[in-house]
Amino acid sequence: MNFEHEYQSLFTAPDPAGTKRKAIDSPYLHRRQRRHFLLFDVAPFFGTLTAFASIPVIGFGWAEAGVLLVMWLITGFGISVGYHRLLAHRSFKTSEAVKAAFAVAGSMAGQGGVISWVAMHRRHHECADKEGDVHSPQLHGAGFAGRFRGFVHAHFTWMAAHAYPNVAHYAPDVLQSKRLVWISRNYYPIAFAGFIVPAMACAAITQSLTGLLTGVLWGGMVRMFVLEQGIWSLNSFCHLWGRRDFSTRDHSRNIGWLAPFIFGESWHHNHHAFPGSAFFALRWYRIDPGYWLIVLMKLAGLARDVKVPRRDQIDIRMTRTTARHDRI
Ligand SMILES: [Zn+2]
Ligand SMILES: [Zn+2]
Repeated sequence: MNFEHEYQSLFTAPDPAGTKRKAIDSPYLHRRQRRHFLLFDVAPFFGTLTAFASIPVIGFGWAEAGVLLVMWLITGFGISVGYHRLLAHRSFKTSEAVKAAFAVAGSMAGQGGVISWVAMHRRHHECADKEGDVHSPQLHGAGFAGRFRGFVHAHFTWMAAHAYPNVAHYAPDVLQSKRLVWISRNYYPIAFAGFIVPAMACAAITQSLTGLLTGVLWGGMVRMFVLEQGIWSLNSFCHLWGRRDFSTRDHSRNIGWLAPFIFGESWHHNHHAFPGSAFFALRWYRIDPGYWLIVLMKLAGLARDVKVPRRDQIDIRMTRTTARHDRI
């Protein structure tokens, strides 16, 4: 069987009714996934170790801190607001140019091309914690050993090789956008630009060639590692431990203290209860930087039709909940 042909056909053959298989597994895809895993998931870990080890030799200054923070913000909002709330869930409307900008920012995070990410994430919501959810921590046996295996799988190892969703079925809207398809096809160069841009910035700020190296390490490797730990926590921690307020058919949880570090995404149980909502925290006093950016964009005229459930819609769902920490 020609696996590459089968994979490419997922992008080109329309399948609105989902008559074809919803996901495929193949050695060809697994090879691609392994390469991606080594480049963008394993390498940043060693890059981060190298960055810290290099501090006594080449130091750590404002330039390194600056590129780390700015690139973390760009790629973090790219994933949280762009990939997730805007493109996967269509929780607000904006122009094609803004969509493209967010898709580029999200691509630099190194967490997959925009079409693949949207399709995988929609499948996660469809199958959450059931067969077909490729990163559930709940499907690996009972007891401590099963939970531990599930945690490691959901946080990290699932990315080494996994089923790939039928993008024509899961992301037909994204496939219709020429710009987003172009960005998806150029995912690798854009992800590498996420290393080149901070390298150039750091070299320019420090007026030194060493800046090229520290820019790659801090603005590329450490930034990618830190953001990944946050986003992966949604699949692992936020499907294992934390608070539940609603009846959902999955094991999603809220972990409020994580919210400032992952752009408000860790109100993950709220998100599973109200997947169309742009506001994950659901309460004004809770930290949700992703939503705050959408509010700012709305004020600036860059976002419209921002979806947020009404208070009574939230309250009705809460009162139907049988137990706060129910286990399904
Ligand atoms: Zn989830
Ligand atoms: Zn989601």
